[in-house]
Amino acid sequence: MSGHIHIVGGGLAGLSAAVELAGAGERVSVHEAGPACGGRARSYVDRHLGCRIDNGNHLLLSGNRAVNRYLGLIGAQQTLTGPTRPVFPFMDLGDGARWTLDLSRGKLPLWVLSRRRRVPGMRLGELRSLLRLMEADPDAVVSDCLQPGALSSRLLEPFAISVLNTMPDVGSAALLGAVVRESLAQGGRHCLPRFPREGLSESFVDPALAHLSVMKAQVHTGSRISAVEVGDGRVTMLRGTGQDVIAIGPDDAVIMAVPAPVASSLLADRVPGFNAPDAFEAIVNAHFALPYAPVATGGLAQARFIGLVGGISEWVFIKDHILSVTVSAANRYATYDPDALARHIWNEVRAALDPALTVPLPVQMPPMRIVREKRATFAATPAQDRMRPGTRTMLPNLMLAGDWTETGLPATIEGAIRSGAAAARAIRERHGA
Ligand SMILES: Cc1cc2nc3c(=O)[nH]c(=O)nc-3n(C[C@H](O)[C@H](O)[C@H](O)COP(=O)(O)OP(=O)(O)OC[C@H]3O[C@@H](n4cnc5c(N)ncnc54)[C@H](O)[C@@H]3O)c2cc1C
Repeated sequence: MSGHIHIVGGGLAGLSAAVELAGAGERVSVHEAGPACGGRARSYVDRHLGCRIDNGNHLLLSGNRAVNRYLGLIGAQQTLTGPTRPVFPFMDLGDGARWTLDLSRGKLPLWVLSRRRRVPGMRLGELRSLLRLMEADPDAVVSDCLQPGALSSRLLEPFAISVLNTMPDVGSAALLGAVVRESLAQGGRHCLPRFPREGLSESFVDPALAHLSVMKAQVHTGSRISAVEVGDGRVTMLRGTGQDVIAIGPDDAVIMAVPAPVASSLLADRVPGFNAPDAFEAIVNAHFALPYAPVATGGLAQARFIGLVGGISEWVFIKDHILSVTVSAANRYATYDPDALARHIWNEVRAALDPALTVPLPVQMPPMRIVREKRATFAATPAQDRMRPGTRTMLPNLMLAGDWTETGLPATIEGAIRSGAAAARAIRERHGA
């Protein structure tokens, strides 16, 4: 057993590390600056809409193995939901075409042979794009690997924008290739769309906190770490705000699981060789509160979401009476007036959903909330990917975690949870466990 392990940051990376370490019998304290844990994957009550929403829609896949392990450890596997088949309904806002990508469950991609199940207008030769992505070198961008055609414009480019949160002409092909390798290439069984039945916090945060409490781990919210003291080649002290100090003894360790800009401000001039991504992309989520829960039909009823191409909106999720829309790689819309953006999105939502609802949506935009996360993720370009640090630092008692560390994946929940587990492993290895 190690000494006391202090985890700075109670997002999913920090919680993942805490769950792994507490489960191994280690003494753990989590220090979270905010009033609640969850970080960028959290739910909260929105007073204007009068209900609880997630800060952003989060889509996961059944093959996210670290997510599955984490949910298993905290007893929350049943809190995710989604269609029972790997189906992805889509609409092209440009020409009104609708289709449902219906993947085969096994590894053999039989779906590409059926015109009903594949992307309309795609040629089989375009599938070479997937191989090129999986074999891409670290300097390649997504556009280098895509063959022109319907598969690219109607699936791979939108997929790249959502997964990388970065435009295909600058986004890392290798990072997208890693996701293709772990999802599409493994077959539809690994691609079932998954999202929280209730909310992000109810799936990923509340069960983790309940589990940590049983394991006697301490979680301090409202506890911001403002400085890290280093001496004799190790972390010796964490300073809170005000007079609070936490002494770090020779056997103690620290996992820094804060976002990249915070880690840079705390560590850049303290830790030799420290590096971190420094360019970011926004995500915009628009939440519309209807006075009733819309009733969907057909593929939309099964999936509860639809992918859109050819407009600004990318994914529309139906959750009871809330319609939530995701717009990724949203730096390009930074100068848009939020009300005008919301009206534009509402018109796209009506065009996409009306034909699949029993009652059309109101023409008048309902009460809405636009959430613009300016630094939603690091910009997943080859140059930024090279700046991601590993788990271990030059200080033996300091580990790093977070979706921006070198996970081999873009900034996702899967990457964040993996990074926390990797930091926990590194600390246990340091103590010979
Ligand atoms: C709008 C949006 C949509 C997304 N959609 C998806 C999706 O569909 N699928 C997917 O897989 N991923 C998605 N992501 C990415 C996913 O949310 C993140 O990858 C993941 O939540 C990152 O977790 P983390 O623990 O690394 O970082 P964070 O969640 O940022 O956690 C860091 C924590 O550190 C705390 N902190 C900061 N400074 C201090 C300090 N000085 N002292 C103590 N604590 C501090 C913060 O308050 C925060 O709680 C989305 C992200 C956003 C913003």
